Amino acid sequence: MKILVVNCGSSSLKYQLIDMADESVIAKGLCERIGIEGSKLTHQPAGKDKFVAENPMPDHKVAIQMVMDALQDKEHGVIASTDEISAIGHRVLHGGTTYSESIVVNEDVKKVIRDCFDLGPLHNPANLMGIEACEATMPGKPNVAVWDTGFGMAMPEKAYMYAIPHEYYDKYGLRRYGFHGTSHMFVSGEAIKFGGLDPKSAKVIVCHLGNGASISASIGGKCVDTSMGLTPLEGLIMGTRSGDVDPAVVQYICNKEGKDVNEVLNILNKKSGVLGMSGGVSSDFRDIEAAKKDGNHLAEVALDAFIYRVAKYIGAYTAAMNGVDAIAFTAGVGENDKASRKAICQYLGYLGVKIDDAANDVRGVNAVISSADSKVKVMLIPTNEELAIARETKRLTE
Ligand code: AMP
Repeated sequence: MKILVVNCGSSSLKYQLIDMADESVIAKGLCERIGIEGSKLTHQPAGKDKFVAENPMPDHKVAIQMVMDALQDKEHGVIASTDEISAIGHRVLHGGTTYSESIVVNEDVKKVIRDCFDLGPLHNPANLMGIEACEATMPGKPNVAVWDTGFGMAMPEKAYMYAIPHEYYDKYGLRRYGFHGTSHMFVSGEAIKFGGLDPKSAKVIVCHLGNGASISASIGGKCVDTSMGLTPLEGLIMGTRSGDVDPAVVQYICNKEGKDVNEVLNILNKKSGVLGMSGGVSSDFRDIEAAKKDGNHLAEVALDAFIYRVAKYIGAYTAAMNGVDAIAFTAGVGENDKASRKAICQYLGYLGVKIDDAANDVRGVNAVISSADSKVKVMLIPTNEELAIARETKRLTE
């Protein structure tokens, strides 16, 4: 069974064709600058040379057609015809309060994706375009929506309700949803398997630390809390996002700088985080670490604050679950940066967390990085959102 996984952004489309027999990636690629001049497809078939095509892609439908052509190309292709593709799995940002579970797309599902345009203004329209492009290009094939908000929907009311007038929840669904759900679902599940934990009761904290960063607490694979909120802005300090701030900061900047709320929200999303804190050094954690080594004080504070906030959330989530069995690190920083993992864990001595430096000297593979006498198992679990989407698609369409 071969499954195509599609992840559409407003001007991009990432794809992977996965052979579910052994979960191997047969081909993957990226369409960039869809709807903009200079569109480009980069197609990487496994074991063959990369193929780049620079053809105009006015919309996602043309992009999907180009992907299909690349997949079936005589030289760079990996399938003889689209008949070999059993189903298509789509990453969809927001399912609102309607969907927590992945679902085969029909008209009702498309309506919900459309109804949630306000909640996911950049992603939901693109996600719907990707689905409709696949429907047009491969009629009759099942399309499955896997929601980025799905994992967080298991949160109890006490965790997802904001302490604001209830009418805003009733009228607009204003609540905490959480994002990176596919990653948190995948990594918490893999951590339970890899760590030999009880799948029904394991208390797991997943630290997804990349350019976007979030943290989740789950018991037996069910989310009890997660750090992103109505939008991905809440929670941890990220590459360019502030994470938690006093909302009065918004009003203050508006008043002092003559900006409107949208402009300030743009600053909190795109110009804050370690980029903003470091005085503009970079949103890339490698650059921040290099600047800190060169003696840049603001970069040092940004990195310290990032680590400190992760450690604070781990403490809060341990309290929320009345304990923790495993902490798993994932995403760009979590998978590659042993120094950040160690620095976070140094705050966790009170939990009996002990890191084994030799075991922590690892990147990009499943590993236990805590010592044998650590009271909490600390792990590195590389995330694989595409595989998680493919597994969900297989489960629903087999
Ligand atoms: P992601 O969003 O998951 O792709 O993660 C991207 C982030 O991971 C970028 O900020 C990178 O700088 C960061 N990253 C990747 N490798 C390392 C590393 N070895 N040390 C620190 N940060 C890293």
